Amino acid sequence: MSEKTFKNCIYVVLILLILVFFTKDIDFFYQNAHDIEDPNSLEVLVNKLNRLDPLYVPPDLEPISLEYATQDKYLRKKAKEQFEKLSHDAKEKGFQIIAVSAYRDYHYQDQLFESYVKEKGEKYALKCSAKPGHSEHQTGLSLDVMGSNNDYDEFEKSSEFDWMIHNAHKYGFILRYPKGKEYITGFKYEPWHYRYVGQDLASLLYTQNISLEEYYYQYKN
Ligand SMILES: [Zn+2]
Repeated sequence: MSEKTFKNCIYVVLILLILVFFTKDIDFFYQNAHDIEDPNSLEVLVNKLNRLDPLYVPPDLEPISLEYATQDKYLRKKAKEQFEKLSHDAKEKGFQIIAVSAYRDYHYQDQLFESYVKEKGEKYALKCSAKPGHSEHQTGLSLDVMGSNNDYDEFEKSSEFDWMIHNAHKYGFILRYPKGKEYITGFKYEPWHYRYVGQDLASLLYTQNISLEEYYYQYKN
């Protein structure tokens, strides 16, 4: 067996294992999570298997201009600059892309998750929200956006969604939780959630149509 075939087999087995465990017991991931070693990396992988320290705060948070965001939305410097550029260019084409959620600290995520548990039960909370330490929003590299229909939940129905899908990677952003990849990312499809990873990586993920998890399995192992 060639090295490439062997690697592909490992990859398929990994995906199958994830699929089995994800559908069987969502908490399996949280119980087996690892601490992230380099949280400041722009390529950092945060998910149900990889957690951030409760005390982790990104080093270079900056507020997004109110022209492109609602009040008090922060991202790391590079992500902020690139998002403002993206939103500016979109605006010139007649689109309105506004950040409605960006950096969220550990404590905020904790409260958010608990509010879902109280409101709709733990099963629902696990399905639609991340436990604190496992949310990408704590990296300062992720944001949720809304389009001209002014509802982030309905972003997919806005005219801006199509523009984002075909242009976000040029600015270094990826659609982080794509449709059909839920069993790999561990999160439901979120058309409104984008993640800054830098232009080179974003373009690679876009052209190969792979998620950040698949990139790690294929290129980092
Ligand atoms: Zn989000």
